[in-house]
Amino acid sequence: MIVHIALPIPRADYYDYLPYRQTGKQPDKGCRVEVSFGNRKLVGVIVGTSTTSAVAISKLKKISRVIDSSPVLDQHLLLFIRRASRYYHYSLGEAIATALPKLLRQGKPITVSDSVLWVVTEDGQSQLSENFKRAPRQWSNLQALQQNPQGLTEKQLDEQLPNWRPAMRQLSNKSLVKKMQQVQCTSFAPDMLKTRSLSQAPGLNPQQQHAVDVIHSFVNYSPCLLQGVTGSGKTEVYLAAISPILEAGKQCLVIVPEISLTPQLLQRFRARFEVCIVSLHSGLNDTERLQAWRQAQTGVASIIIGTRSAIFVPLKNPGMILVDEEHDGSLKQQEGFRYHARDMAVMRAQMLDIPVILGSATPSLETVSQAEKGLYKKLILDERAGGAMPPVFEIVDLRNRKLLNGFSTPLVEGISSTLEKNRQALLFINRRGYAPAMLCHDCGEVLGCPRCTANMTWHDSRQHLRCHHCGHTTRQPEVCPACNSIELVTAGMGTEQIEQTVKQLFPDASVIRIDRDTMSKKNSLNEALTLVAEEKVQIIIGTQLLAKGHDFPGITLVALMDVDQSFYSVDFRAAEKMTQQILQVGGRAGRGQNKGRVIIQTHQPEHPLLHALISQDFSAMAKMMLQERKEIAYPPFSHMALIRSAGVKQNDAEQFLVEAG
Ligand code: ADP
Ligand code: ZN
Ligand code: ZN
Repeated sequence: MIVHIALPIPRADYYDYLPYRQTGKQPDKGCRVEVSFGNRKLVGVIVGTSTTSAVAISKLKKISRVIDSSPVLDQHLLLFIRRASRYYHYSLGEAIATALPKLLRQGKPITVSDSVLWVVTEDGQSQLSENFKRAPRQWSNLQALQQNPQGLTEKQLDEQLPNWRPAMRQLSNKSLVKKMQQVQCTSFAPDMLKTRSLSQAPGLNPQQQHAVDVIHSFVNYSPCLLQGVTGSGKTEVYLAAISPILEAGKQCLVIVPEISLTPQLLQRFRARFEVCIVSLHSGLNDTERLQAWRQAQTGVASIIIGTRSAIFVPLKNPGMILVDEEHDGSLKQQEGFRYHARDMAVMRAQMLDIPVILGSATPSLETVSQAEKGLYKKLILDERAGGAMPPVFEIVDLRNRKLLNGFSTPLVEGISSTLEKNRQALLFINRRGYAPAMLCHDCGEVLGCPRCTANMTWHDSRQHLRCHHCGHTTRQPEVCPACNSIELVTAGMGTEQIEQTVKQLFPDASVIRIDRDTMSKKNSLNEALTLVAEEKVQIIIGTQLLAKGHDFPGITLVALMDVDQSFYSVDFRAAEKMTQQILQVGGRAGRGQNKGRVIIQTHQPEHPLLHALISQDFSAMAKMMLQERKEIAYPPFSHMALIRSAGVKQNDAEQFLVEAG
């Protein structure tokens, strides 16, 4: 017999090995094994067997070690990952490695984080004290387990019965007790589960109720777009939608963008359901990640909320998949195995034959077009929930206007009046650092990164130039590399510069800057978001870290400082992303009782998309953009693949592309 093993290396989907044991029971598909490959030891997953191999049998090596006694990847998950790897032209072994938590990838036991549980056997349950007259310690152990038929953890035993181990071993030898691995819910301390008060769901408005009713009627694979303007109560719809799934004892997988997975969101789920909820995000350490994964796999967790990689989490009893902010760019993995979690959610739901809900205020054109074709059901929420009014959008034409470091007069006045009313203002610019470019005032040369070809960004506080593409950092050169002039100036603006200007203009206001530079520490983003939510800061300056799903009732003014950059982009999705971003960021305004105002500063006030934006009719804009895509046969009206080539020398990389073309 030949065993096919998927290994975390490119090229082939699997490699052939000889079984660890020639006879007897063989490990199942989905079990991990260790093999030698070249001079390395690798952890791989068994994906099949056969009786023949393309390689001569005498050349095949034997599996060095079998790691699992039962599969870590179930049949569905193996099949799903295989399909995904085919779709994205990536080796099966590498795709599997992406899907596995790091500890499993390293060959660690899957039970690493499980707690050991001692339980009484049927035989042990019927024992009477007479049989233990001369073994009182054994009897007290047995009695404790008889009284706790669900079992006791080693920790509990330590507390109740000092030195319980030797007697337990004797009981175990007599088969009166046995040891079990237990996966525990880590989302609450067990006593917290009982004492906390669950929050009541608000009465749903008719649109929400309709959406919930339709979703409740789904039984099989039913892809569905939930298009609800910002603040329309999509999260409430999700909560109501999954309720019967949980009651039926099934699991719900919720995929969210990186930035959205905040304690606030988790809190909303935890406050509503008395079930085990785990979250999978980049802040977990390896053990926590495996723990969460195990809770999903064993069915202990009923709700699994995670960022994109959670789409590969094993589910014991899947009932529904939700993708929130389905248009969001962070759902797509941009390196290694480049999958899109939204598309994979649909693929997985189809394979599992369960409903999948894609929610957004500004859905991707791909999803809109599927709904248009009738392939996805479409549900609309077009008013804000709970009586909040939609914000008013205003365009400020920057041409020929006097600007103060990027601030127009209407904007300065807008901020002043917001502060007077004790409300919060959010200033949005999608660029961190001080200025997006440094250029020569004499010859126009833009300082580029010496390592790649991107422009360098000036960081004033650190007094250095940094490439946001590859991370390369340098000090400011003394002279222009092209003409030796000393007239190097910054151009454009980033968050740092805006912060400086704001502090000059509004010296008494409390200001917070939220971007990747100020929020690099663990938890700093959550702390900052809490400050904003509790209205402890008045002016918030931020990048897209702020654009997503947050609910900040105190913000009434949102300003988009510079939307022009999107008009010059070579990315064919730039217009789509810009409209989504403006509506999303603008959607932060006026979510409480006070009406919101959105100021868009631009040098391109006639741009047709900006005009459509004012009416905030995303469906109309989507139609315009889809028409354009259709005319030039771009996705979703065609498929597009990207061929990347990387090399130490530019020439080699280019030569490869020439040959590939
Ligand atoms: P979305 O996810 O669409 O942005 P949320 O679900 O966060 O919207 O809802 C926005 C706000 O409106 C939240 O504060 C939420 O508690 C509130 N809300 C949602 N639905 C209702 C409702 N039916 N009645 C009252 N308030 C609601
Ligand atoms: Zn120059
Ligand atoms: Zn670079």
